[in-house]
Amino acid sequence: MSRYIFVTGGVVSSLGKGVSAASLGALLQSRGYTVHVRKFDPYLNVDPGTMSPLQHGEVYVTNDGFETDLDLGYYERFLGVKLSRNDSVSGGRIYWDVLNAERRGDYLGATVQMIPHVTNKIKEYIGRPTDTDFVICEIGGTVGDIEGTVFLESIRQFANDIGRRNVMFAHLTLAPFLAQSGELKTKPTQMSVRRLLESGIQADMLFVRSPRMLTDDERAKIGMFCNLPANNIITSMDVDNIYKIPLVYESQKVFDIMAAHFGLPAIAGDMTKLQRIEKYLSDDLPTCTIGMVGKYFDVPDAYKSLNEALFHAGIQNNVHVKIKKINAEHFSPDDCKDVDGILIPSGFGTRGVDGKIAAAGYAREHNIPFMGICLGMQVAVIDFMRNVVGVADADSTEFSKTCTPVVGIMSDCDTGEMGGTLRLGAYPCNIVPNTLAEKIYGAGQISERHRHRYEVDIKYKDALEKNGMIISGISPDGKLPEMVEIPSHKFFIAGQFHPEFQSNPFTGHPMFNAFIAAAKDK
Ligand code: GLN
Repeated sequence: MSRYIFVTGGVVSSLGKGVSAASLGALLQSRGYTVHVRKFDPYLNVDPGTMSPLQHGEVYVTNDGFETDLDLGYYERFLGVKLSRNDSVSGGRIYWDVLNAERRGDYLGATVQMIPHVTNKIKEYIGRPTDTDFVICEIGGTVGDIEGTVFLESIRQFANDIGRRNVMFAHLTLAPFLAQSGELKTKPTQMSVRRLLESGIQADMLFVRSPRMLTDDERAKIGMFCNLPANNIITSMDVDNIYKIPLVYESQKVFDIMAAHFGLPAIAGDMTKLQRIEKYLSDDLPTCTIGMVGKYFDVPDAYKSLNEALFHAGIQNNVHVKIKKINAEHFSPDDCKDVDGILIPSGFGTRGVDGKIAAAGYAREHNIPFMGICLGMQVAVIDFMRNVVGVADADSTEFSKTCTPVVGIMSDCDTGEMGGTLRLGAYPCNIVPNTLAEKIYGAGQISERHRHRYEVDIKYKDALEKNGMIISGISPDGKLPEMVEIPSHKFFIAGQFHPEFQSNPFTGHPMFNAFIAAAKDK
């Protein structure tokens, strides 16, 4: 049976629960333990797919095609775990399940109540078996939120069900610094822990977010008020890069606290993977500049996974990657004068698409390393059809109803999910031999995640290839172009999928690694 760690937060939201939870997982993994992660969000949306990216940042996609918020991306990147729709569960989904069961008559006429029906449903998701040593569950929101109460009740019960020693409660709080008195204030932390106690949950360790390390006196004081030894009060220091957090925890012996709680040996861990990132961050390395021609720059975190993937590829190539945000709506070739590579990310709708087509053309003509992602591949094909093959009205039916539709909606991509006709999740792609794609991936078949509606029409394969753009990745049935490239170009490659969702800081992703290598070379 797996052991469980529940991560809750108090005082304010956005304390970085996800990063803290992932960091605990990293400490466990560094000792050879296996880890799975689940996230519970008490809000009432049934799934995050319908939530506005304007409010929530990037829509992250799991292998099984679940559209989720970007926290799941942290877990996959940090811990190398593969998550699915059952690992991201909202309050709305729980109530939806319970009410549907009630309508079907599953409860045989019993009075349906928060306890036990809703709590049992939550516990069912928490307790779904995994083959890992540990399951870390993040409970979204802040202790005291009305919709979170039933989730706290469920984890209280769950600990009682499987045995208190098999469950650890980690609680994140904030110690604000008052500049005028020069003090770090511990009262909000005390109040938050007490609030948690009202739900019957005694926190086993506290992670106190603070601009500086807590002193021993401060830790002892918090511990005294919160029924904990001072050692279990950890400073979650503000750092400039999230990958430093596991090292901050390691230096405060967080693994030993977990080991003592679960009755495991306090063995040393191998932190070299994370130390390498820490060193990279402070190393004086050359910088390469990637022009990202996009349009969601005013939304924080809209390109989260993409920024991460570029950062990861920088680590692999010993170069610092600077992202130059180029607004596709006002694209001018001058924007690309000082860049070492051009990247066109995904996008929906007509706004900015002309600029993206022009940027793809600029990279093609000026032999600038180019990578296109999803829409980025579609615009690369449109530019090529228009300006090399000579089909002036080549376009996507997403942008024009009267064009030559080199990009359009193909049949049978409907996954039946909320996203309508989006092709969502992981699909296999066959790699064509003797291509850049094959050199990059070193494999005959790959699997990458998708989130798009339109496809390049295979009908134009001959026209493209005769003129110098080849299809180097294709769906196993031979119908859907998945990758294109221009062999005569220094580095020009694009994919219909989102490779950024599978990048991680320890190995990077082959496509991004190769792109940054080419940009560094330039
Ligand atoms: N708008 C395009 C489509 O739906 C591209 C989507 C994307 O870039 N993710 O196919």
